Amino acid sequence: MHGFSYQNGSLLCEDVDLLSLAETHGTPLYVYSAGTLRNHFRRLDAALAGVDHEIAFAVKSNSNLSVLRLLAAEGAGFDIVSGGELFRVIKAGGNPAHCTFAGVGKTRAEIEYALQQGIYSFNVESEEELVYLNQVAGELGLVAPAAVRVNPNVDAHTHKYISTGKSENKFGVDFGAIEALYDRAARDLPNIKLRGLQMHIGSQLTSVKPFVEAVEKVKPLVETLKARHGIEFWSIGGGIGIVYHDSLESGSPEWWDAKSDEERPLTTELYGAEIVPRLKGLGLKILLEPGRYIVGNAGVLLTRCLYEKKGTAKTFKIVDAGMNDLIRPALYEGHHEIVPLKQPGTERVLVDVVGPICESGDFFCQNRELPDFQPGEVVALMSAGAYGFVMASNYNSRPLPAEILVDGAESKVIRTRQTLEDLIAGEL
Ligand SMILES: *Cc1c(COP(=O)(O)O)cnc(C)c1O
Repeated sequence: MHGFSYQNGSLLCEDVDLLSLAETHGTPLYVYSAGTLRNHFRRLDAALAGVDHEIAFAVKSNSNLSVLRLLAAEGAGFDIVSGGELFRVIKAGGNPAHCTFAGVGKTRAEIEYALQQGIYSFNVESEEELVYLNQVAGELGLVAPAAVRVNPNVDAHTHKYISTGKSENKFGVDFGAIEALYDRAARDLPNIKLRGLQMHIGSQLTSVKPFVEAVEKVKPLVETLKARHGIEFWSIGGGIGIVYHDSLESGSPEWWDAKSDEERPLTTELYGAEIVPRLKGLGLKILLEPGRYIVGNAGVLLTRCLYEKKGTAKTFKIVDAGMNDLIRPALYEGHHEIVPLKQPGTERVLVDVVGPICESGDFFCQNRELPDFQPGEVVALMSAGAYGFVMASNYNSRPLPAEILVDGAESKVIRTRQTLEDLIAGEL
């Protein structure tokens, strides 16, 4: 569910007309719904109520300071993947003691910074990294709290670029090697405090089955590690999928209610109902690391149509946002629903919606039946809140778009549009 819907023929975010935001702030423009962010956080929190848990928002999905500040106020911790993300969390008022640090390639500078800030846990992805972490902590006279990321070799059934829990992926340590690694750490690595175990099998999972499979497979290992090394937490990762097709319709509760149990996309309620009973009684704190679920459907990218180009084979709608602003279609074959801000009739035309970038991969859809919008009109690329702005670049020397946060009838600029001077700042 989310805060975007047509009211009296105009697409609104909560109580704010998106067209008025596009006119005031220009396009391309990212717009987020604060109500949706809070709602998603609270629903997931409620679904996990049966176990001692903490939700660590995956900062990489959307790292705007205002988004982080809102989630910190809700009680979120944060899962970070770089020193830069830790810096952002601290700037947003987040508490490092509620931060976990993931990633296969942490640098010495990042490790030192995170140690000095007192993060909750380094989520370590290899034996080599654990040894290095012990060494750096020792040199600083500190003890590094750590969990190892187990690779459970479970198929997440998602796009190959966002599948992370199979043996052929670069992430984590093989399931069968974990026990020996913890024993070695306890014996030989005095500057490591083994605090937990972590896993994350992939992103945009639309079925609860792979989560259940991974939890059942890893649970006996967690019990062993608790008995032998006194670990206190188990992070079961992020990865809860969202609706990309039918994104607009899925904003209303009726859309969900009308679905049978088999056809309904994954909900937090189902996730909780399947996962919580399997985690009860472990006596461990359960960490979750959702990114996309919290923020994906809470954001849209507004873009204005510049030209309609009728080629011999196709009709192209050329818009002012490009793959530099939203790379998901080019990178992951990601699907974003495209909806006009003025509620359309039922007529559809077959088009490609493309950006201005000099790359053939610069498209938002190909051969899709869409309402016929014209040059000058603004459309919304739905479900663009996660892995949207954070992956934007200055490719083709295009300034980064502005970002807006809507809360009820209020809207505020949470990041200003880059200027031409910003583009060359720092260059000689
Ligand atoms: C990316 C990532 C997440 C978040 O994934 P979502 O699919 O956005 O929920 C969580 N944990 C780790 C370790 C990640 O790398």
